[in-house]
Amino acid sequence: MSVATEFDAWAAEGRDRGMEQRHWHTAKHALARMPVEEGETVLDLGTGSGYALRALREAANAGPSYGFDGAPEMLRNARDYTDDGGIGFLRGDFESLPLATDSVDHVFSMEAFYYAQNPIQTLREIRRVLRPGGTFYCAVNYYEENVHSHVWQENISIEMTRWSAPEYRDAFREAGLFVAGQDNIPDTETEIPEEPAFPTEEWESREAMIERYREFGTLLTVGVAPA
Ligand code: SAH
Repeated sequence: MSVATEFDAWAAEGRDRGMEQRHWHTAKHALARMPVEEGETVLDLGTGSGYALRALREAANAGPSYGFDGAPEMLRNARDYTDDGGIGFLRGDFESLPLATDSVDHVFSMEAFYYAQNPIQTLREIRRVLRPGGTFYCAVNYYEENVHSHVWQENISIEMTRWSAPEYRDAFREAGLFVAGQDNIPDTETEIPEEPAFPTEEWESREAMIERYREFGTLLTVGVAPA
């Protein structure tokens, strides 16, 4: 199944808004750390409902920015959720970005990068469109160390890249980005029921759920484009 077919179905079911709600728990912390200066251009890779750019335009006075996605229905919804003319929506595949070299100040991506079928090529494209000193904030919940996320692959026909934290850093370097930092942002908001509720449908034990949200949370890798 193609990215468009798969994620158009998600958008039609309203899962774009559901993801926004859940991802916001940690995405907001990643967004708050981005060194976006007033008027700077941000590219949101795999924008989904487009919440990241709405937030950066409001909170950081970001300049004209782009929500990029491969699924037309996601983009249609994202357009509906804002009347901000400073956010443009672009459709395409991660591996070939329809943007000029050195044309973007920062790239953000939440829970989307690992769907790239050629992740190294995608990183090279990100490096190409970033201006020297521009940053890439790459946030993922699906990665090797987060053992609780491994089963997600079973629910989707698109092949997902499951790198470890060191593999993310190596790949960034291989694609020509400096690694400025990497850490885990815990999700302190997802509600964890008291002990008697376990096992639940999704969670074998309370410890596992605590580990997934409070310890592993979201893996954030920050890249910087060289001069
Ligand atoms: N960032 C949003 C959406 C995450 S879902 C959030 O945090 O909620 C992943 C998004 O990436 C989907 O909207 C999907 O259509 C898009 N996507 C996945 N693979 C893609 C690819 N190869 N090219 C372009 N978009 C892609």
